[in-house]
Amino acid sequence: MLAEHLPAQCTTFPLDQTAYVSATCESAIEIRRSFAYTTYSIEVKCPITQRTWKVEKRCSAFYKFRELLAEFHARCQDNPMRLIAKSLLHISLPSKLVLDKYGSSTMRKRGKILKKYVWLALDCRSLCYIYPQDKRTVEHTELMELLDAFLQVPVNLRDIRFKEATQTQMDDSCAICTYEYLKEDFAELGKVVVLPCGHCFHRDCVSEWLFSHNTCPMCRQTTDRIAGLFAAQS
Ligand SMILES: [Zn+2]
Ligand SMILES: [Zn+2]
Repeated sequence: MLAEHLPAQCTTFPLDQTAYVSATCESAIEIRRSFAYTTYSIEVKCPITQRTWKVEKRCSAFYKFRELLAEFHARCQDNPMRLIAKSLLHISLPSKLVLDKYGSSTMRKRGKILKKYVWLALDCRSLCYIYPQDKRTVEHTELMELLDAFLQVPVNLRDIRFKEATQTQMDDSCAICTYEYLKEDFAELGKVVVLPCGHCFHRDCVSEWLFSHNTCPMCRQTTDRIAGLFAAQS
């Protein structure tokens, strides 16, 4: 349903959230001024960089996010971003009535629901990130900012965008492993990445390099940021 209203390349996005959100969901009880709070920690993985980080929140933060989303949805008219927000508004969160209660089984149940919610938020974020540059509006930026803040995306991963690869980029080879790019490399979003200097590499090849360097392996320009590429529409 959502897919019908989005541009073609968005609908081909592999919506396999399980690959991006790890199975770990820990919860910890924190006592503050004699009140007990449960904090949930959900590990997520960026589909482009494959870098992982933790989303650490209390249940109430999910409700706050949903309020912001509902407010965005209400004021965003006739815009595909409205549909993306709507898809998240449909997901139920743990009941507010039992928010004060805590116990290991409640926490486990709640953790499961919150994990699923994070999966879907990450999905929505992915859709925003591959959304064509020329069709973007102010609402697009606003929704991305909402999602990035909620998902606690590390700052150097926030400006990563998917771009359409040019024919020259697709005909090239990766300077690190020296293998020529295959058509399939561009079908899997994020498998080939481009650095701000314009040089392209296999994500896995350059990720290893960037782990110990903060420069492009080709031109030595300083960087810790990458963008994902996908095949140009023929
Ligand atoms: Zn390579
Ligand atoms: Zn370079």
